[in-house]
Amino acid sequence: MNQPVPLAELLEAVGAWDIKPIPQQQEHFSFNFKGQRNVWSLSARWLDTGKLPQIYLDDRHCDKHRPHVAWYRVVCYNDGEGLFFTDEDLESVLLKSLQMAIKVLDDGSSGNLTEFFSELEGYMDGIIKIKPSTNYQCYFPLEETPHKLWAYCESKTSHKYKWYSERNQCWGVSEKDWKRTTEKKSPAHGVRGYYLPLRDQHIDPPLPGEYWSFNDLLKLVNSFLPELPELEKFVNKPWQRYIFSFPREKGERGAFGILVNKDGASYRVHHIPVSRFHKDYLQKRASLTIHAAIKSQRVAMIGCGSIGSMISQMLVQSGFDNLTLVDPDIYSADNLYRHVLPKYFIGGGKAAGLKMFLESAFLDLSLKASSDNGAKWATPENIQQHDLIILATGNHAFERQLLKTFIRNSSLGQKIMSVWNEPLGLGGHVVLHQTGQHGCLNCLYFEGGSQLIHPQVSFITPNQKVSKNLTGCGGSFSPFSANDSRQTALLATRTIETALTSKEKSFYEFWRGDKKQAIHNEINRSPVYDSGFPEKDLWWDEKTNTGCPICRN
Ligand SMILES: [Zn+2]
Ligand SMILES: [Zn+2]
Repeated sequence: MNQPVPLAELLEAVGAWDIKPIPQQQEHFSFNFKGQRNVWSLSARWLDTGKLPQIYLDDRHCDKHRPHVAWYRVVCYNDGEGLFFTDEDLESVLLKSLQMAIKVLDDGSSGNLTEFFSELEGYMDGIIKIKPSTNYQCYFPLEETPHKLWAYCESKTSHKYKWYSERNQCWGVSEKDWKRTTEKKSPAHGVRGYYLPLRDQHIDPPLPGEYWSFNDLLKLVNSFLPELPELEKFVNKPWQRYIFSFPREKGERGAFGILVNKDGASYRVHHIPVSRFHKDYLQKRASLTIHAAIKSQRVAMIGCGSIGSMISQMLVQSGFDNLTLVDPDIYSADNLYRHVLPKYFIGGGKAAGLKMFLESAFLDLSLKASSDNGAKWATPENIQQHDLIILATGNHAFERQLLKTFIRNSSLGQKIMSVWNEPLGLGGHVVLHQTGQHGCLNCLYFEGGSQLIHPQVSFITPNQKVSKNLTGCGGSFSPFSANDSRQTALLATRTIETALTSKEKSFYEFWRGDKKQAIHNEINRSPVYDSGFPEKDLWWDEKTNTGCPICRN
């Protein structure tokens, strides 16, 4: 892979001419190449044949902006994704790359800059910095109105500025550090700047290789004077900091940063890269499209053990912000290898620990923790205050009891869900009841007009001793692993997401695992497990119509 690429020879072989090494730059050659419509002056470097060659546009073409040509003139012709190339035939890889680059340039010659402006954030970020380590971190949302900003900066030597308009947006700083820095009156703390959202102002980004003059900047800043008259004084300050945003597609905004410093009688403009720390933006980066239904859901998690803790974490990562965590148990060392909580939570309450853990891991949540047991917690008021109640206690007698209370006290749109694992990796189950619809946990225990002791969907035959006992009579636990819980939790989270958009039914879902461990432990599987339950959907449809006494009231 790392043999030197004979780039000059390869260029000649693919039909380039006027090939010259660029002085003081290793393995960088300028050349001419003919496209469909134009002759292009380009240069190329190719140090790593595991990647495509880098192709640059020559200065003489950089008298105007072109789509997919970065500030440092590299042509963005392919992101390498979905492309197969082999380093055994470098000549054809080079030819193909040149053809792709030329196509980008030919297409971009039309003068239509829509694509250029849609990539403006990347273009501005690519400006080679005079002050290379400085970075503006946006903790505030990029809204449509201009306003004053404050920056937190840890020390004089750190050039990472955390910009906010209100203190609580700036989640990167502990209360202690915040106080310490403020008390010291560190000069880096309390830096002021302005957020200026461009609307239809004409933006004239610096041409490749160039920088803005102070006058270029003033044109933009002055257009905000009607809204922010104080800018008139601010532009005379020896240090000025700005974050501009500009409209992008789908109502989103991009941003770039500017630092101005007075150098003798003149002002120098520095382009500063911007990174984004606001929750909405970060959630979008995780491909989350959070609809209003998710944001407004108030979820209660009864049972914060293995499955419950995993579902809670998955829900938060799916955009659910409002959770009540209920569990009377203490987090013990026995739980460690199948729970989301780290080891230093051992000895504390599970519910309080999970709340603290999620708050420290994610942004801007509204969490409550209760150490009540589920029965005590489930008052009519508490039930009415939640859109979704998840029962992850592993105790179906209790969960059926709570289901009755729920059905008596809930109103349309509310949901209740039970989740549980089968032992020894055999599988897991999820049943979600929606108020006003048929189908509930009890349905799984109801057949031919009478209640059963075991759910019909059980994957093992009744009356087997599966609780393994490692510590004597007092210490029995159900044998399932973290991955069993993870799979059940994932099924539960997906089912919740589906139920939010299809309100006209209740759900029963399962996953079926491998039987090796069950065989090894001499546990007999049920016919439901052995058959793979192919008729599940049909069965559940019928089930919800033959009716149990709890959900058909
Ligand atoms: Zn591009
Ligand atoms: Zn039912």
